[in-house]
Amino acid sequence: MTITPSIFVLGASALPMARRIQEAYSGARVFGLQGRADAADVTYANFGEALRQQYRQGSPIIALCAAGIVIRTLAALLTEKGAEPPVLAIAEDGSAVVPLLGGLAGVNEIAKTLANHLGVAPAITTSGELRFGTCLLNPPPGYAVDLEQGKRVVSDLLGGATVQLNEDTPWLKNADLPLAARGDRRVVVSPYRSEDPHTLVIHPRVVLACVAPDRDISREALDHALSAARLAPQSLAALIVTGVPQAVPKLALLAQDVGVPLRFVDDAGVLGPVEWETQDLSLHVANDSTCADSMGIARGSLHVVGLGPGAAGYMAPAVRQALDAAQDVLGYETYVKMAGPFRGDQCLHASDNREELQRAAHAFELAAQGRRVVMVSSGDPGVFAMAAAVLEALEASDDSRWHGVALHIVPGITAAMAAASCAGAPLGHDFCLISLSDNLKPWSVIEHRLRHASAADLVMAFYNPISKSRPWQLGQALDLIRGYRAPDTQVVLGRDIGRPAESLKLTTLGELTPDQVDMRTMVIIGSSQTRRFSSGKREWVYSPRWYPADSR
Ligand code: SAH
Repeated sequence: MTITPSIFVLGASALPMARRIQEAYSGARVFGLQGRADAADVTYANFGEALRQQYRQGSPIIALCAAGIVIRTLAALLTEKGAEPPVLAIAEDGSAVVPLLGGLAGVNEIAKTLANHLGVAPAITTSGELRFGTCLLNPPPGYAVDLEQGKRVVSDLLGGATVQLNEDTPWLKNADLPLAARGDRRVVVSPYRSEDPHTLVIHPRVVLACVAPDRDISREALDHALSAARLAPQSLAALIVTGVPQAVPKLALLAQDVGVPLRFVDDAGVLGPVEWETQDLSLHVANDSTCADSMGIARGSLHVVGLGPGAAGYMAPAVRQALDAAQDVLGYETYVKMAGPFRGDQCLHASDNREELQRAAHAFELAAQGRRVVMVSSGDPGVFAMAAAVLEALEASDDSRWHGVALHIVPGITAAMAAASCAGAPLGHDFCLISLSDNLKPWSVIEHRLRHASAADLVMAFYNPISKSRPWQLGQALDLIRGYRAPDTQVVLGRDIGRPAESLKLTTLGELTPDQVDMRTMVIIGSSQTRRFSSGKREWVYSPRWYPADSR
């Protein structure tokens, strides 16, 4: 089975070993501590938070540090419900490979593979595994066992019992089990439950529980139906809803609760013979245990995210999470690059196409196919960026598949805030954000707003201040503002904030000329109250929280 582990290092000395381990897994990423291992693929500021986030997402974890550190970091999460991903600690010099958690998620297999890759012996401590060379309780994907029953049979075998296998467990062929044609114990593969204490039933995940979209069923009703049909709960492969994918919050919770995917099919006819039926629910038994993934589609999602100004530390964790989970990523090429690194299995649709509505339509089409799609903007997606275009496309659409997509707008730090923070607090009092681009609104509207904002003594932050195709607009805007504000009005110019070429210039309205500004610049024009002062070697600009009592 291929996995995509997150490899953690605390310092640069562990990086070479991390890279060596990374070779064994395509798409794996190395996480390094900020300031200590900046050459890693992803840097984190807090080891505990970063590790726990990966764990909660179910990512396999390989940590190149003391096992104790990993155990202490994850201890509080171990009692949480949910799947336990494989977690391994590996000595920085590659001399020890220690599987820690995720016995049922194949951690021993990973330990064996890695140890083999590194030329050492894995530290396997599972008795059944040591004796039989395999873990009976960890069948291949698509199969599940009843753990209580399984543990009982494994300890019987460890105690000297023999076992009888039949043809349908090919993955146990090479195991070193105490086989006997008429063994004391039996291993069988079946979706049905068994009460026989001497039989280990391996359940293929073949049962599909199908619900109409306007019906909600409870956990009790589902359990009851499975039990009435004598089917084992472990055989459940998917919860199926008929119709176009849409929000079905209660069923989504139920699917999460029982740990199966929620899929949508046009017609229940494709699900195979009905095994059990009530008014709300039908149970079907498919003949293939990989059926859940190919049965219908998932409800797709579209996250419209803001990357912030550029620096990784200024990106919201919710954005990083959406990017990590994405199957498709769309956006301007520069921003898609900024959002990386990506795994090999993620599809990038970078464009220099300025047609925002077309891009929004492309995103909805992908999401309507059941894919997890992320659309990236710089700064905040709702500030002169893609979120409004996406909503405009959705409002104009009568495609029920688009309206069924799980749409989320995830905020980011907008350029005005990022630039303001570099200068101090110029937005410390009332302010407005204005785009000087007249591509999508008439210049007269912009002038009207500038006049009112100037008259109201608002601090103004200008987006899209100037470009090759809009060379005169900024000069005209400044002329207009000079009619209201004094030449010593404070001005902040922030260029490429949060990016390698970042620069900041503090000036005044009297000295400001359009040639100091380009399309990568944020222009902040202070109010009559905005001030500048020096402290030590630097200067600060801020707008006080108060106004003089005698002002307008
Ligand atoms: N959604 C973005 C804004 C897009 S409009 C946001 O919320 O920040 C593009 C304009 O934003 C640019 O012309 C520039 O004025 C400003 N801008 C975007 N990123 C910037 C950065 N890193 N530094 C300075 N200005 C930036």
